[in-house]
Amino acid sequence: MSRVDSLINTAALEYVTFDLPSRGLPYQGKPSIVKVRPTVSREEKFLKSIASTASNYEEKLAKYLMSITDLSEIGLPATNLTTGDQLSLLIFSRILAKDQREYPKEVTCPDCGKDSIIKIDLLNLNRTYLSEDFVEPISVFLEKHGLTVFCRLLRVKDQVALTEYHDQMRRVNLNDTIDPSTDSEGLYAYTIEKMMKGEEEIELSYSEKREFLQKVDSISYNLIVGVQNDYYHGYETKAPFECPYCAYKTTVSFDFGSDFFFGTASPKQ
Ligand SMILES: [Zn+2]
Repeated sequence: MSRVDSLINTAALEYVTFDLPSRGLPYQGKPSIVKVRPTVSREEKFLKSIASTASNYEEKLAKYLMSITDLSEIGLPATNLTTGDQLSLLIFSRILAKDQREYPKEVTCPDCGKDSIIKIDLLNLNRTYLSEDFVEPISVFLEKHGLTVFCRLLRVKDQVALTEYHDQMRRVNLNDTIDPSTDSEGLYAYTIEKMMKGEEEIELSYSEKREFLQKVDSISYNLIVGVQNDYYHGYETKAPFECPYCAYKTTVSFDFGSDFFFGTASPKQ
């Protein structure tokens, strides 16, 4: 222990347990509980640097998560996480780091059209969990084609692989300017494991899966991509809203902006 270490109250950096919305079910035998601790200043700095550099974004976020959790002790690399678990861990880590209980969000009243601010109660945000009998792969039958497609949930490593794929394509062909974040066929191609036509099992290469998603009819496409929504797990991003101007009551959906993830940790309020 250094002189500096003895000055820092390490109890303030104690780990807090977080149960993964996936229940750990996609990680065969890995525990469903992850320990997370508040960030130290160098991690905040690292996080801020991610926001300003567009490259390898997902990989850097994974690195950040490895640093503030016990994922490496569990033997579960952050890149193996489902994107649902990863996002939930990120949200939880930001709540912890900022000691933030409320998140202000501007809402436009659907009735009178006036803007107001709602305060989202972060500590009581509900989480949706995968059902206990969840198993991968998830089969989707495409009636039009007589095909059964076996899918899995999207992983962080898929996002990393897609970025690498486009980096490589750009090296080969300078005209490839596709932004990986808009290449949904490219992304969901990773979630296809195999297909069956009758009794015949069909293994496709990555580029064939991409091509399949690009060429298939939109109903079939939506069935394959819809798996991700059907098995949504993570924080519920809905909040009750009552308009202060016209008293209209409804539920509004919100998202966490980049200020929430990349803003500097603020002192207790
Ligand atoms: Zn209103």
